[in-house]
Order: sequence, then structure tokens, then C-alpha cells
Amino acid sequence: MTTSIQSHSKLLSVIIPCYNEEAVISETVKRLKSFASELKNLEVEFIFVDDGSMDQTRPILKSFAHTDERIKIIGFSRNFGQQMALTAGFDAAQGDAIVLIDADLQNPPEFVHEMIKKWEEGYDVVYGIRSVRPGESFFKLFTSRLFYRILNKFSSVFIPDTGDFRLMNRPVVDVLKSMPEQDRFIRGMVSWVGFKQIALPYNVAERFAGETKWSVSKLVMLARDALLSFSNKPLEFILALGLGITALTAIGLLAVITQKIITGLWVSKMLILLLAIGFLGGVQLLSLGVLGQYIGRIYTQIKNRPRYVVQEFHGFKKPYHGEKNSRE
Ligand code: UDP
Ligand code: MG
Repeated sequence: MTTSIQSHSKLLSVIIPCYNEEAVISETVKRLKSFASELKNLEVEFIFVDDGSMDQTRPILKSFAHTDERIKIIGFSRNFGQQMALTAGFDAAQGDAIVLIDADLQNPPEFVHEMIKKWEEGYDVVYGIRSVRPGESFFKLFTSRLFYRILNKFSSVFIPDTGDFRLMNRPVVDVLKSMPEQDRFIRGMVSWVGFKQIALPYNVAERFAGETKWSVSKLVMLARDALLSFSNKPLEFILALGLGITALTAIGLLAVITQKIITGLWVSKMLILLLAIGFLGGVQLLSLGVLGQYIGRIYTQIKNRPRYVVQEFHGFKKPYHGEKNSRE
């Protein structure tokens, strides 16, 4: 098996984010290698991004990297989250096409052959749609479906209900790399980029081993990032609500005052006052909350911190130092 990267053949970069995956990682490497051995006219590099694992994931990966120069490792200094791991992968990937795949074998590596076919037909993004999702709770499936419905009501670009399993053409990744946002929802960003995209249904396998690394709170934060990064509608909605309620209370107050002038009587004025004050107070708090979210985003963005910190690199030929440097 050839391991050198020849200039004439195209290169496929496979990015695998890993967080505490010691139970599965050896099997994943095995499956990925056998996938690679079936590739024709395509060199491959595997970029494992170890997202600050606290178990044996990194040492295991390093031992594989020693014997196979296609295996590269980016080791984060702590857990930065899967979306940042993928971002680091984009920065390091040299490929003409880039594949994102989970480390737990829920995304079958063999399916990438189908994605490559579509890429060769001229598609720029080939994303996997999950047709069967075994081993996922009813709660997760239900909330995920609901979330994408709401997201797509709000978002100006269509964001399909997918995981991150996908193949992307080089120009798409170059655009992604130029998007400096700190709060990253990569599926949404890929939709936003455009180009020729196609969905391919695949059967999600059960997690090969270990437990999900996405806690409910991490999922809620991802949902929040997605909603706030892909629409200003919450802000507009609150504005409309605020205006509507102000207008209604104004009309109500006018009516009450008119009645007082005509009949000389107040209709349960205390209740009206309390309701008006309560409503307005509520609207103001809500508006402030939403504004706060956006201001929070501005704050993170202007801090302009590096989005992730790499502790060590392994297997890269040309030394490079993370996101601030170009691939050259
Ligand atoms: N992952 C990561 N950082 C995290 C959480 C997850 O790199 O903070 C990786 C994880 O190792 C896996 C992929 O992201 O390769 C998807 O995670 P997982 O399978 O736990 O999520 P699920 O399939 O349950 O949604
Ligand atoms: Mg999984």
C-alpha cells in the first residue's frame, strides 16, 4: 500500500473528532484503513483531532501514527467541543475533498465511497441523511426533529436534519475557513456556503462502543448557537411582540379613559393597571434577554481569541501552528 502523497493523484482528507473514544478508536482506525485500501486513484490522509480526551485515546492514536504516515493527530489542550475539533481539522486538511466522520463508527466509512461518486459527478457537498437511527432514545429523535423544524422556520438558508457526516469539495472548505465566527454550527455554515449540494440517505449504525459524548446541556448549547447564528428572527419577534403589546395597552388605556370621561366611572382600574404593568415588565425582560444573547455574541467575537488550542501535532510533514497560519 502506498503511503506517499503523489502530486498527480487527488487527496482525500478524513477528519475524525475524538473525545474519550478509547473503547472504539482502534476499531475505527482499522475500518478506516480498510476503507482507504479500496480507494482507487485517491490518496488519503486521516486527521484525528483529539478533543482533550482524558482516557487512552491519544496514546492509542499515536501508536497508530508511528506506523502509518497517513495518520495525523491534532491534540487539543482541553475539551473544546466537536465543532472546534472539526474546525481544527479544516485548518490542517490538505485534501481536494474533505470528509467529516464520527469516531464511534455510527457513520459507516464504507458509505464514503458513495459520497466520492457524487463528488466525482460534480457535487461540492454530499451530506449523509440519517434514515435509520438505532440506539437513539425517543426523546433525542423527537427533540432533534422539532429543533430542525423550528430552525428552518427561522433560518434564511435551509439546514437539513443531519449530523456532520459529509464530504466537501476544497472550495467549500476554503470558504468555511474564511468564516471567523466563534460560535460555530458547522452544518448550518455548510448550508450557508451554497454550491452544489446533495443529500444521500444512510443507515446510522449503533455506537460501536462507549457512550455518547454529547450531553443534553452540550446539545442545548449547540441548538442555541444554531438558532442565534442563523437568524435574527428572535430579535424581530420580540420587537413585534413589544410593539403589539404596547399598542394594545395604549388602546385599552384610551378606551378606559374615554369611558371615564363619558360615564364618569372607572372599570376595575387596579386590574387594568396591574395587567398593563405586568405585561410591559415581561416584554421588557424578554427583550433584554434576547438582546443580551446577541450582545454576548458580539462580546465573544470581539475578544477574538483563538478558537482552540493545540497542545501537540503528530505526523504532519510541514510544521504548522494551528489556525492563525495558512496551510502553506
Ligand atoms: N466529540 C468531540 N468532542 C466532544 C463531544 C464529541 O470531539 O466534546 C466527538 C466524538 O468523539 C464523536 C463525535 O464527536 O466522534 C460525535 O459524538 P457522539 O458520538 O458522542 O455524539 P452522538 O452520536 O451521540 O450525537
Ligand atoms: Mg455517536
